Amino acid sequence: FIMNPAMVARYAPAYAKGMPNGTLGDQGAGIVLGMTAGGSTALMDKISAWRFINPPKAWSDAIVVNAKGERFVDETVYGATLGEHIGDHQGGIGWLIYDAALRKQAFKQARDPMLVPFQRDVTLLNLAFNAVKAPTLDALADKIGLDRATIAATVAAYNRAARGEVEDAFGKERSDMQPIERGPFYAMDISVESKFLPLPVITFGGLRVEEESGLVLDKAGKPIPGLYAAGRTAVGIASQTYVSGLSYADCFFSGRRVARHVARANR
Ligand SMILES: Cc1cc2nc3c(=O)[nH]c(=O)nc-3n(C[C@H](O)[C@H](O)[C@H](O)COP(=O)(O)OP(=O)(O)OC[C@H]3O[C@@H](n4cnc5c(N)ncnc54)[C@H](O)[C@@H]3O)c2cc1C
Repeated sequence: FIMNPAMVARYAPAYAKGMPNGTLGDQGAGIVLGMTAGGSTALMDKISAWRFINPPKAWSDAIVVNAKGERFVDETVYGATLGEHIGDHQGGIGWLIYDAALRKQAFKQARDPMLVPFQRDVTLLNLAFNAVKAPTLDALADKIGLDRATIAATVAAYNRAARGEVEDAFGKERSDMQPIERGPFYAMDISVESKFLPLPVITFGGLRVEEESGLVLDKAGKPIPGLYAAGRTAVGIASQTYVSGLSYADCFFSGRRVARHVARANR
């Protein structure tokens, strides 16, 4: 139902300002139809949000911080995992913090002929227009509203781990870390609402179904005879968390489950 703003605002408000990712037909009609026939829903607030920050690798070598200036994740995690951290656990706010050396590398990496246009152009657009710049970390913190002491401590800890002096608090590999040490320093808005780096979002909740048959369950948890749900109209394997392929695979699986049950009933 990602193309139905009223449903998104009602069920998944944390992602209402994300970029709806799908077709105009994704209106939630199947879910609503099932509800009007007595079906109950679950996990309607579950959204997969795709925040990919590599390429360029220079970005994932840097740090992502929350509204206070604290890191909360290994920046090399899968994009849907980073999106979930930002949207579900950090109030929708994320900043990518990098320095002059990393910026230079990012420009160079954007010219890699292996990149497809949407990777290259998005990188260049964000380097040009989504980059708050300041000569010192303190000045950067003031510009974007971070706590000076927190971001200073965050960067100092990261730099120690990047130099191999200590283990990274989030288990990030040293080969994926570079110290952030020479100004000017930059902050890129990677929040849910980022204007230059829109966050693609899709929904994963739906009608509750009986595991064996795909029959829709009513509010008491009883199957409703003759009413089935499959794919993303139903709660399924992908509904809690998403990795590429999980949704398609679940659509096939749940469609076949319904077809088998219908065929058996008819026999
Ligand atoms: C850009 C993008 C990339 C994605 N990449 C991946 C990926 O790599 N791996 C992955 O697993 N998932 C991916 N997904 C998610 C995945 O595509 C969807 O979750 C999945 O297609 C949902 O399948 P579905 O059958 O439930 O719904 P849909 O594929 O939306 O099918 C519903 C069908 O019902 C039809 N319909 C609607 N209303 C009516 C009506 N009233 N009467 C008759 N027919 C109707 C529609 O026309 C449509 O054909 C991606 C999604 C997007 C948008």
